[in-house]
Amino acid sequence: MSCKNICIEYKAKKSFHASFYENGVRRCTECEVFIRWNNGSRCPCCGTVLRIKTHDAKLRRRLLSKSKTVS
Ligand SMILES: [Zn+2]
Ligand SMILES: [Zn+2]
Repeated sequence: MSCKNICIEYKAKKSFHASFYENGVRRCTECEVFIRWNNGSRCPCCGTVLRIKTHDAKLRRRLLSKSKTVS
């Protein structure tokens, strides 16, 4: 499993922050990108199972806002 740059076609823009995870945006840990993909649980590029970490991301943001900002 490796990145074939197909994910770039589906890459999600970070400007959609508010509804990021509610629009079928998923995280591929292999390609290290957020992609818009609703046609399955696997990355169309590398085949890795995509992560949907809505609660985790919200929690992390809350934690980050309390302490120092890590980008
Ligand atoms: Zn990829
Ligand atoms: Zn991928």
